[in-house]
Amino acid sequence: MVAVRGLQKSFGPVHVLKDVDLSVSTGEVVVVIGPSGSGKSTLCRCLNRLEVADGGSIEIDGEPLPAEGRRLAGLRADVGMVFQSFNLFGHRTVLDNVTLGPTKVRRTPKAVAREHALALLDRVGIADKADRYPAQLSGGQQQRAAIARALAMRPKVLLFDEPTSALDPEMVNEVLDVMVSLAAEGMTMIVVTHEMGFARRAADRVVFMDDGRIVESGTPDEFFAAPRTERARDFLSKIL
Ligand code: ATP
Ligand code: MG
Repeated sequence: MVAVRGLQKSFGPVHVLKDVDLSVSTGEVVVVIGPSGSGKSTLCRCLNRLEVADGGSIEIDGEPLPAEGRRLAGLRADVGMVFQSFNLFGHRTVLDNVTLGPTKVRRTPKAVAREHALALLDRVGIADKADRYPAQLSGGQQQRAAIARALAMRPKVLLFDEPTSALDPEMVNEVLDVMVSLAAEGMTMIVVTHEMGFARRAADRVVFMDDGRIVESGTPDEFFAAPRTERARDFLSKIL
């Protein structure tokens, strides 16, 4: 579903992604961990073309990433992204936030988009908030609305970049529970997170990045029981 080969990205003199290879199969859940600055967000942003890589290749569902234009909008629709900071439109209701993408980009009829959106809001447990504005919701509710918005595009793969790190601790689990259920339903997901409980519950594979490279990759059981590199051991000792 996702095939990243030899990905390179620099910001000026800073070489951020150094030959990253990552393949994710349909239905697979990959958790990406690693120290601050290791390139996790940059990798996500290259995957949905918020950043343009300098070298290497990315294929989504067998198609190389388009460079520009309408096909890029299509790609963004296929690759959903959920950010740490929710990024909901503040002046739109929750329902509008969820229907906007499908009606504008997918050209879904309004009534159809609305029905799907209401079903998705129900699925993430905030059906009663459809007519509220984002500021009237808790952080956990806003992030669940952001997940519903991403799902509304019927993406082929969902990227999450630290989706719970801006939340108060009591709201983390309501978001993780939604993500666990998506994983169980077979959604293809790449999740940057420090929530190792989520990795154990939902990940098929854990990938450890350090200094712009993927230095380890394994099942959660393998990785947590016996990280092979000193850097991964050191990182785990700090976060577990
Ligand atoms: P964190 O855990 O703190 O979120 P990360 O692994 O997501 O870290 P990135 O945000 O991908 O790391 O950043 C990797 C490196 O790239 C850092 O050194 C960062 O300063 C640099 N970087 C990221 N975006 C830009 C940018 N737009 N311009 C310049 N440098 C950038
Ligand atoms: Mg980051």
